[in-house]
Amino acid sequence: MIQDFKNKDVIIIGAGAAGLGVAVALKRMDINFVILEKEEVGASFKKWPEETQFISPSFTGNFFKMPDLNAITPETSPAFNLLTEHPTGDEYQAYLKGVSEHYKLNIATGVTLKSVQKKKGIFIVHTNKGDYHCQFLIWAAGEYQYPDRNTFKGADLCTHYSEISSFKDIKTEDRIVIGSYESGCDAAINLCKEGTKVTLLDSTNNFELINSDSSYSLSPFTRDRLNEEDVYFDYQPESGVKEVRFEKGQYYVETVTNKQFNSPYKPINCTGFKSSLSLVESLFENYDGYPLLNNFDESTKTKNLFLVGPQVKHGNALFCFIYKYRQRFAIVSERIAVRKKIDRSVVKSVINDYKENNFYIKNLSCCDDECIC
Ligand SMILES: Cc1cc2nc3c(=O)[nH]c(=O)nc-3n(C[C@H](O)[C@H](O)[C@H](O)COP(=O)(O)OP(=O)(O)OC[C@H]3O[C@@H](n4cnc5c(N)ncnc54)[C@H](O)[C@@H]3O)c2cc1C
Repeated sequence: MIQDFKNKDVIIIGAGAAGLGVAVALKRMDINFVILEKEEVGASFKKWPEETQFISPSFTGNFFKMPDLNAITPETSPAFNLLTEHPTGDEYQAYLKGVSEHYKLNIATGVTLKSVQKKKGIFIVHTNKGDYHCQFLIWAAGEYQYPDRNTFKGADLCTHYSEISSFKDIKTEDRIVIGSYESGCDAAINLCKEGTKVTLLDSTNNFELINSDSSYSLSPFTRDRLNEEDVYFDYQPESGVKEVRFEKGQYYVETVTNKQFNSPYKPINCTGFKSSLSLVESLFENYDGYPLLNNFDESTKTKNLFLVGPQVKHGNALFCFIYKYRQRFAIVSERIAVRKKIDRSVVKSVINDYKENNFYIKNLSCCDDECIC
């Protein structure tokens, strides 16, 4: 067993929903770990625009084995803690802080991972606070803090959604919003409520897309908000952006269908995120922009390196929502426990609990869907 302040059996990178969720499963299996977090618990949620709320609803169904959709452990519920159905980022961060305190998770904050090497079966994690060592590394550093500023020519001229602290701060006479999935709609709706005249550019015709899986089409929460009295904007389907230019005090947005829009105010880019995985690219094989993983969410290239969170993808099944990727916390922990030869009865009892609470999907044939957040 590797044990001292900087040497652990397991190191988890990131204290967001994914890192904390897998940490609780490890703790229950008596596996020692440290979470390295560059800022504070739930930092990404704190960075959300003040007005942004969860689209997936919270409801305390835990006692009937239907845990709150936004819970990261079978026995906790954001609805119960926060007394709201669609928490804001600040509220959800409070839930995550509560979880980390309740389970007494070992978290080192202010530690930023710079790079990782593997030598003789041990990961050497280079950070701003020196090197840490571990046998197993779990990547949970998320996406939100790694915006994609390269989705079209001139994207760097725009304000990325992740840079907005509050829509009140960016209310102007008019705004062009690029991207019509959840974050684009969130920006458009909130700007309308601030009295801004919005043009929303959609590369497809997303508002018409209805799919049985909520990951494919806009959530009911967003559709309800789009129908609100004070939400009205110029929606432009089939208007994927080719280029943004800034000339003589105006931002010109040109689409692949040769339409042109202009505004004196920076367009809002809501076309998505890169991934923190860019920091450890060489340790994963890639397929179609996603890391290749085995059945235990372990890198197919680097043994004992696991991935948890919204970047986990198997076939067409993308685990981008909390209620999806939490299904894999116990799978990763179980694999580490087996390799560490942890007492089987302890592991079995934890796995049974996760299974009974619908927190454990091993057979992936059931979840053949795509995601749009
Ligand atoms: C606007 C918006 C609305 C959403 N709504 C929903 C919803 O309703 N329901 C839902 O299920 N999901 C929703 N999501 C998705 C959800 O927020 C993400 O799936 C979730 O935040 C991912 O959790 P994570 O732990 O993987 O990443 P994060 O929450 O980003 O956590 C990663 C952590 O790693 C830390 N970190 C990053 N890099 C390093 C480093 N180099 N060294 C050390 N630490 C590092 C960060 O500080 C952060 O604390 C939404 C996302 C957005 C953007």
